[in-house]
Amino acid sequence: MSARRPRSDDWWRDEGRWQAKPRRAVAGGVGVAKPGKATSAEGVALVTGANRVCTTAVASRARTYARHGQVVGVDLGEKTAVAQVQGSGDEPYLLSLYRRDFGDYTADCDCPYGCGEFYWCKHAVALAYVVADMIDRDLGLLLRWTGDSAATAGEVEAVRIDADRLARLVRPIPSIDVPSLMAAAAEVAPPPER
Ligand SMILES: [Zn+2]
Repeated sequence: MSARRPRSDDWWRDEGRWQAKPRRAVAGGVGVAKPGKATSAEGVALVTGANRVCTTAVASRARTYARHGQVVGVDLGEKTAVAQVQGSGDEPYLLSLYRRDFGDYTADCDCPYGCGEFYWCKHAVALAYVVADMIDRDLGLLLRWTGDSAATAGEVEAVRIDADRLARLVRPIPSIDVPSLMAAAAEVAPPPER
């Protein structure tokens, strides 16, 4: 005798199915204070791109994952981010995010839901939120993510040098020891005798 196939009404009432399984707490994750809120153009494009390929329910769970640091070990390489996300299962899922172009991203996740061209799982969306937050706060990571690191590494270095120069400018001028300078000058070029 086969099990009764639940009517759709039952399915929605079945809380075990309807409610997502509890997340497992994880240490060392990247906690994002405001997941899905980006400031840089690239960060906004990434968040927008991720939101476009997920439902509002998936986006909501992804925000929870990102906020609670379920995304761990983010390895941000050139146009690629690899990470693990601890979901409700025993083992974390391994996933990756690729930047094909500005506003054009793909994702991969080994969870059962997975990612396709038009749908991303909550893990991938959570990773997108985390990466958006990382590149918003670190210019070096932003350049690595966009793949501009080689071309603009010099510019970044110049920015850093300028920051150093600025620091020197605002530093108080050390007081000058006039008598010792005069003595040193007198040794090199003694004043003419009167
Ligand atoms: Zn997934």
